Amino acid sequence: MLSRNKVSRNCSRTRITDAPFVDPAADLPDCISLDPLTEDSLLANLLSRFKRDQIYTYIGNILLSINPYKPLAQYTEQAIADYKLRTVAISQLPPHVYALADHAWRSLRDFYSDQVIVITGESGSGKTEASKLILQYLGFATGKSKELETVRQQLLLCNPVLEAFGNAKSIHNDNSSRFGKYIELEFDYKGEPVGGLITHYLLEKSRVTAQHPGERNFHIFFQLLAGADVQLLKSLKLQRNTENYLYLRNNHSNPSVWHQSDKDEFFNTKKALESVGFSAEDIVNIFRIVAAVLKLGNLIFTPVSNIDGTEGCSINNDYELEEVATLLMIPADELRSALLYRTYSVSCSAMDAHGMAVGGGGGANCFSRDSTLPRDSTTSRTFLGNNHQSHSQPQQILLQQRTSLLSTSASMVGRDMYQMMDGCHGSDVGFQAALASRAYQDAKDDFVMTDLSAAEATTGRDALCKALYYRLFTWIINSINERIKVKQHGKRRILGVLDIYGFENLPVNGFEQLIINYCNEKLQHYVTEIVVKEEQEIYMQEGLEWSPILFPDNLAVCDLIEKHNLGLLAIMDEECQRSTNGSDDAFLSRVGQVFQDNIQIEVAWGLLSKNADSTAMNAFRLKHYAGWVTYSVAGFLQKNSDLLVRGLSQSMYQCAHPIVKELFPEGNPRRTTLRRPATSGTQFKMAIIALMRSLRSKNPHFVRCIKPNAFKQPHHFDVQTIQQQIRHLGLLETAQVKKNGFAFRQPYAWFLQRYKMLSTVTWPHWGGVAIEGAARLLRDLPISATEYAFGRRMLFIKNDSTLMQLEDFRTIRL
Ligand code: ADP
Ligand code: MG
Repeated sequence: MLSRNKVSRNCSRTRITDAPFVDPAADLPDCISLDPLTEDSLLANLLSRFKRDQIYTYIGNILLSINPYKPLAQYTEQAIADYKLRTVAISQLPPHVYALADHAWRSLRDFYSDQVIVITGESGSGKTEASKLILQYLGFATGKSKELETVRQQLLLCNPVLEAFGNAKSIHNDNSSRFGKYIELEFDYKGEPVGGLITHYLLEKSRVTAQHPGERNFHIFFQLLAGADVQLLKSLKLQRNTENYLYLRNNHSNPSVWHQSDKDEFFNTKKALESVGFSAEDIVNIFRIVAAVLKLGNLIFTPVSNIDGTEGCSINNDYELEEVATLLMIPADELRSALLYRTYSVSCSAMDAHGMAVGGGGGANCFSRDSTLPRDSTTSRTFLGNNHQSHSQPQQILLQQRTSLLSTSASMVGRDMYQMMDGCHGSDVGFQAALASRAYQDAKDDFVMTDLSAAEATTGRDALCKALYYRLFTWIINSINERIKVKQHGKRRILGVLDIYGFENLPVNGFEQLIINYCNEKLQHYVTEIVVKEEQEIYMQEGLEWSPILFPDNLAVCDLIEKHNLGLLAIMDEECQRSTNGSDDAFLSRVGQVFQDNIQIEVAWGLLSKNADSTAMNAFRLKHYAGWVTYSVAGFLQKNSDLLVRGLSQSMYQCAHPIVKELFPEGNPRRTTLRRPATSGTQFKMAIIALMRSLRSKNPHFVRCIKPNAFKQPHHFDVQTIQQQIRHLGLLETAQVKKNGFAFRQPYAWFLQRYKMLSTVTWPHWGGVAIEGAARLLRDLPISATEYAFGRRMLFIKNDSTLMQLEDFRTIRL
């Protein structure tokens, strides 16, 4: 038994904190063999294995993995061969992520059904490493043709690219994935990989412009500065020192400088980009965007007081702007104007002064609904379109350009406009053309232009950088998908690998953490439904003897976040749509009203944060499956609405840079979308719902990752940290269900059909009732009667190893 005294001691090389083990544990590869099966025996078992670097342990067919925080010798080609070739029974080999990958792949091939490996755990628990090992195994374990080799290479090599652009150092993990990743590998009927598809989920783009204390921006920025040769740096107009870039200087902590590893990683990233198939020109163009983001971040806007008392701003370091303009291939004046001024339609027609479509709303709302900038009409100077007052030269040029564009646009009515909208379909076209032409007319008469304050310009600049970076990331993934997509015809099966960001609870949590934790709630719900709830329901429906095992259901929290019209996301959307009153605090008030009787959420005004500066924040606390998390609402609405000021997307569309132009299709004056894009929160919710649907359509395999300590240290087993995760993940309940339950079940007819050749009684055909045939068949095999049970419609098999045994018998007989 475990003693609960808080002590720390060394046991061989492993430091055990918080609870010493008095009795050495059994060290069993599968926790369901533990007797008694308790939290203590489970912990003790994990510890004795951890001390021997056995980081993997089964709970039935679920794999537990404890992050060793050090390289292990168990990932060699020989190890892959051992699991693939199986000269000994799989049960003789130690538990391994390769064994799980192998099982999923064999299930796909042998049962010809879609499979999915779901990897869950806190941030830093080893999910991404596990997903890489699975891909590595699937790459090696399958055929060797040249065609397959290319697919394999591309699938394996896309990872360094994704990590360079999508990972960053966080307080939990030096290589933290800041996006969710779901890779689907497609296999032909022989089980050979023929292609794949990567789906990504909400990159944490706010990191581009600001980071939490102790964290860094995305790796690629540091890699580029550290690894680019002098010539490349010069052509990108960059300097090697990270201190020169505002976005890389973490204001809250020490400068986040690049390390030697960034330099090495840069070469890996570049090589991976080349191997995945990006041309030298593509690669330079990608780096030009990365460099432009860094340099845009350096732009300093200085307030300028206008004669009429209104406030505008100018750019302090114009040379940076000139260089950004060169990198993005756009006239500097165009970019400057987009950053310093804003035009919009006062008539609130469906178009703005550029003839661009805006959100579907009318009246005074439509102006602020499509803006990411805080508006303050008393401090910004307004110019009326055809009757403007005195203003500076660049403004005059801009106005002239825009007025002429308007006149041209406004003169296009009827058929011309119809032709212009070549992207529309069917009867919608006529309707949209009519609307659009009216809007152009309205806009011609009523457009205005305002100076932006320095604060507004800075917000706009940051929004542009986040959009540029996020869209570049998406573009890279789309390009990779284009290369790895299946090119052959024929039937295919999918093996999905889900590695999504882990649960987070930081000193100050924001919109991103809510999204990440919402996603983890959904996954938790999916896993417990399948592993704990549905499993037990089936036993009971099938009439097997069963004492129910309870595990807390987190559906209420999922609902609280996502419920139609009434959840946090819906309330946020509602606030984003308000023209004047929508604010983070108004959102919080509404949360307080809607959930006043809900014990899983609390609203707090003026709470002192745990930061060193102890700034007061308005926040809500939410009770997640992994504990209470406090979310500061500052910035929630802006991050949720996530729209870019139209002038900026238009200027990006004007860039001659071949990728950038493609990234901002809404900046095309010919584009006439009348619908406002869904908010970030809603888009994420739709994506997660689709993901859950996809997971549910596949046969699941689970890897549950555990972090051994909060210090990223090897040889340190902190009992309390692990115990907490065991509780949150419901591992004891899972083990109890697995211990008493069954690893496999199939209808009798299916079972007979598959294994009828194993007995002369059932071969070639069994004429009687299926259940009796299955019983006769099993009686003829060297399988213990405790290994199976007969349900109403299905046969249940206790252990995976028995199923494997049956498959082995079958292979021999065939
Ligand atoms: P997560 O994706 O869960 O946030 P990672 O997979 O990125 O966590 O793991 C964090 C770090 O822990 C890795 O960068 C690596 O240093 C270490 N690590 C994780 N799994 C292993 C493993 N199986 N072997 C060695 N080191 C590992
Ligand atoms: Mg990760």
